[in-house]
Amino acid sequence: MRSVERTEVADVTIERERGVTVEFVDGHRCTFELLELRLACPCAGCRAARDKGEQPWPTPRSPLPLSIADAQFVGAWGLSIAWNDGHATGIYPWDALRDWCEKGAAQYPPDSGLGGPAAD
Ligand SMILES: [Zn+2]
Repeated sequence: MRSVERTEVADVTIERERGVTVEFVDGHRCTFELLELRLACPCAGCRAARDKGEQPWPTPRSPLPLSIADAQFVGAWGLSIAWNDGHATGIYPWDALRDWCEKGAAQYPPDSGLGGPAAD
């Protein structure tokens, strides 16, 4: 079951060197570390890498340590994160972040990577 409160975001704290904290309107608070966010990047490229059993980060050109260069809300739908290695195609849907937080594993809908909700 999907309620508005469950995926409606009250506040987001971006700590560029540490991670992202999301507070939902029902009071549920979730903290995600940089590395787990980067490795779970929902974009098509990272998804393809994971499907081949490869880590999407770091690449030989990735600056260390990992940090967030920029982050933006994508409507009411999710959070777009630009990383310090220039990677910025991943959009993290709020509902997927919430599921991830509650279940302890990244579970993105199959087609969430390129800026639109899953079309199923
Ligand atoms: Zn990606």
